[in-house]
Amino acid sequence: MSENTNAFTMAQQQFDQVADLLSLNQQIREMLRFPLREYHLRIPIRMDDGNIRVFQGYRVQHNDARGPAKGGIRFHPAETADTVRALAMWMTWKCAVADIPLGGGKGGIVVDPATLSNGEKERLCRAFVRSLWREIGPRQDVPAPDVGSNPQMMGWMMDEYSIITGQYTPGVITGKPVGGGGSLGRREATGYGVIYTVRETMKHLKIDSTKTTAAVQGFGNVAQHAAEGFIKILGGKVICVSYWDRDDRTSYTVSKDDGIDIDFLTSITDQYGSINKDQAVSAGYKIEDGDAWITKKVDVLIPAALEGQINADSVKKIHDGVKILAEGANGPTTPEADVVLKDSGIFLIPDFLCNAGGVTTSYFEGVQNDMNFYWTKAEVLEKLDDKMTQAFVAVYEMSCSQNVYMRDAAYMVAIDKVVKAMELRGWL
Ligand code: NAD
Repeated sequence: MSENTNAFTMAQQQFDQVADLLSLNQQIREMLRFPLREYHLRIPIRMDDGNIRVFQGYRVQHNDARGPAKGGIRFHPAETADTVRALAMWMTWKCAVADIPLGGGKGGIVVDPATLSNGEKERLCRAFVRSLWREIGPRQDVPAPDVGSNPQMMGWMMDEYSIITGQYTPGVITGKPVGGGGSLGRREATGYGVIYTVRETMKHLKIDSTKTTAAVQGFGNVAQHAAEGFIKILGGKVICVSYWDRDDRTSYTVSKDDGIDIDFLTSITDQYGSINKDQAVSAGYKIEDGDAWITKKVDVLIPAALEGQINADSVKKIHDGVKILAEGANGPTTPEADVVLKDSGIFLIPDFLCNAGGVTTSYFEGVQNDMNFYWTKAEVLEKLDDKMTQAFVAVYEMSCSQNVYMRDAAYMVAIDKVVKAMELRGWL
């Protein structure tokens, strides 16, 4: 039988395993295995050539017992309702583990944003909000950017919502541009958050971070800042990153054994995280196939591209010397690969703990919007480091006290908080 890589069944499978460990009753399982609400949208916009094109969109609110639903809007050609459901569910656990008073939601539009002009992108963002505005809001559901979307797009969406409601409402969406209601530090937050959890792991494993190397999958928002943090905060070396090449319709690994120059590589990367490989080759980088990153003899692997990348096949290619797997992406590891990882001795920092820095700073952005008072970047990053460290410690202690795998420990911490909130509200 071929491996299941459907993100939603993966998310349910992970939940079921921990539900068994926690002996959760049937009502709780029924509440948490499925989203509370979901919206399927047909979104027509006028293209630059004068024709109307209709896009498929989704918004899923998995659980809002602990606060308004929260989660990004992904613009991706392979988006499906099930991917959005899985991502919404993972957001519920992420907000609970990070201990921020928000629930889990996610959105998606089936489109390759690189094929749209700026005007088409703006019309699509505004039309998405016109379809959905009754179901979102600072006290209902607060979207944010994700794969394929960016601060400018969030700015348009916030503007459309404010026009429709007749009130300036920056708190309806996060990840907005700085100066347009955005928070300093949001751009770096997810990648740096990954690095704060890697730093804490290294402390527990008594590893000197300045002597370590990492291989990163992806080179978008999360991967770039995780790589930057690995080099600049931990003092380690990143020997490769990878990316999806739209022209060649394949992925490549871009490597340099003595360590990449993060500022240079970022300077030759477009807004979608695609590296200019000719310029990379001219500067002495090696171009290898897309899977090469996972085979590298490094201390830390950081998958930071898409879900399902570490699967039954690719997990076998991980080098014996790897000590830490820091899941920057959401759902990068399939349950089959997880079984192998559990026995491998590799220390796992599970996705919804590892990449919680983005939503934590989104929460800070909402707090600043509510106060109408903005913190400095240093204040934001200090608060972020605090939250990430506390979250890491809570999960690590659970893992030690219950003698369970880090992913299961993260689920235990998260599910416990969500169930308590549902009980307090009289839902159960
Ligand atoms: P992004 O669109 O900025 O970057 C994605 C990167 O992955 C690009 O460099 C792209 O070329 C690369 N990529 C795509 N397919 C690939 C493949 N098959 N092989 C190698 N590289 C490939 O996206 P992002 O915001 O960096 O998000 C990356 C992951 O992190 C996603 O799983 C997302 O859900 C998750 N995440 C993002 C945030 C955030 O704040 N942006 C927060 C939490 C989690």
